[in-house]
Amino acid sequence: MDKTTLQYLRTHTDIEKVLDNLASDGSGASTVDKLSHRIFVETVEQVPVAISITDKKANILYVNNEFVKVTGYAPADILGKNESILSDKITPKHVYYDLWHNISRKKIWQGRLINRHKQGKRYLSDLTIAPILNEQGVITHYIGMHRDITETYEAEKKAGNQKLLIESVINSSPFAMVVIDDQDQVILDNHQYKALVSDLGKGEPARYFLKLLRDELGDLWTQLQNREQGFNNREFRVETKGYQGIRWFSCAGNWFLEKAVNADAFFEDSSKYYLVLTITDITRQRRQMEALHTQTLKTLMAEDERVRSIRETLLGAIHQIQMPMNQIKAAESILRHKQQDEKNSGLLGILQQIQQSGEAAVATMQKCIPEIFQTAVGPINLNQILHEVMLLCEQRFLSNNIEVHWQPQSDLPSLLGSENRLRILFKQLIDNAIEAMGQANGVGKGRHPLQRLSITTDTDSDLIYVTVEDTGPGIPIDKRSKVFEPFYTTQHKGNGQTGMGLVIAKEIVNQHQGLIDIDANYNEGCRLKISFPVRRAID
Ligand code: FAD
Repeated sequence: MDKTTLQYLRTHTDIEKVLDNLASDGSGASTVDKLSHRIFVETVEQVPVAISITDKKANILYVNNEFVKVTGYAPADILGKNESILSDKITPKHVYYDLWHNISRKKIWQGRLINRHKQGKRYLSDLTIAPILNEQGVITHYIGMHRDITETYEAEKKAGNQKLLIESVINSSPFAMVVIDDQDQVILDNHQYKALVSDLGKGEPARYFLKLLRDELGDLWTQLQNREQGFNNREFRVETKGYQGIRWFSCAGNWFLEKAVNADAFFEDSSKYYLVLTITDITRQRRQMEALHTQTLKTLMAEDERVRSIRETLLGAIHQIQMPMNQIKAAESILRHKQQDEKNSGLLGILQQIQQSGEAAVATMQKCIPEIFQTAVGPINLNQILHEVMLLCEQRFLSNNIEVHWQPQSDLPSLLGSENRLRILFKQLIDNAIEAMGQANGVGKGRHPLQRLSITTDTDSDLIYVTVEDTGPGIPIDKRSKVFEPFYTTQHKGNGQTGMGLVIAKEIVNQHQGLIDIDANYNEGCRLKISFPVRRAID
């Protein structure tokens, strides 16, 4: 482009003239049809993209209305100047190098630069530069098209920053946090949650807890979701192997509705639910509470045992008195039939007196039998009861060198019953097992070979099963039915055995509409099988 043309362009901003000039072959004859030419010119003039046309050295020959708006430069200010007038000089050199490297090789370049508005304000420009070639394929001009994307960029960055902020807040949280979509897929999680994945050994923890939550909340789950209400403090015990391995978690959740961002949803507003689930490990707090609870239980159980031993002593004494009393009654009835015999009347009187005073003694003793404290009936998790009883017996396990195999069925359904009574039941069975294993191995004589106590829980649709199995001497087949009879014991009574333990155990099982049995097929010790109906009220 010669000096005259440049001069011409500097004083005539009309694109028609510029384009005429660009399109002319030098003879001045226009190659573009006049009508379409005008439409084309007006389009470029009014298009809402900042357009500039330059010579090969980026000297500006033409700018459209939008260019004026975006840059603040009127045509008179900028025509003939280099595009570098727009540069804020903080765009790195390599960007310009890349720009020129491409466009000078006839390629289109697209990128972002920092420009400076005429008033001095910086803006981010999204720029596309295309080379314009003549018929011989030689670059004659460049066309630049740019938009001020400062606001979009700021919004993008803000969103990115917010995401980073959210991620760092989530990651610094001491609780496991996870965002789950409506297909139960984890879409965002934090470090604590990742740790839970390996710690818990339950697959995807989110799915595990979702199942527990859905089972517990039932229909309420959907209602809360639809109302975007959320839930709090839902506590779950998670069984792991070994009776020490129980962990407690508290779950809280909040739903939010996210609007779809894909193109399909542009006209049709579609959205889906996400759940932010927080899982807090409350095992420590629980253990502290449990320690207190165990202490209270120990006191209660000690009191209960005291009452029971008084009851058993009195019942035993009544049982003992009853036998001679029956014999006296029989003798008295024989004598009464021989009333005519004078010499027997004195003896009959004595027998009657003995009988009366015996009956009075029995009645007094019966009055003295203390009542067993009854507790309220409610839904009971047998795993929890067994766990508590095992904690109560922990010292005895250690001192008797007993290895405990605790295999609870996770998600055990509850049964309706009395916590206290069931605790007495299992304490009795475990005490019996410890006693039996101790007797077999001569406790007190310094010999304590390792013994094993296995406790398992299981369930099917109707029943909950508990087995208590020891490696003691077992109960001989001919004595198995008798052990549930009052005052029968396979041990020496001098050992503090009254023979009432299994009677009481059976009574408690019966009160809960359950069954207790000795497994006839088990020969390595004693295995007691207890079953209870799932959630049925006791009579
Ligand atoms: P300059 O000295 O101009 O150049 C820097 C580097 O660019 C040089 O080292 C060299 O590698 C390369 N270079 C410069 N001119 C040429 C050339 N003619 N041939 C080959 N390589 C060359 N810049 C902006 O900052 N903002 C814009 O909006 C903008 N729009 C443009 C639109 C068009 C159509 C064109 C062709 C260029 C545009 N430029 C724009 C680029 C501009 O011309 C400058 O190259 C840039 O601003 C850097 O200016 P400078 O004075 O810092 O460096």
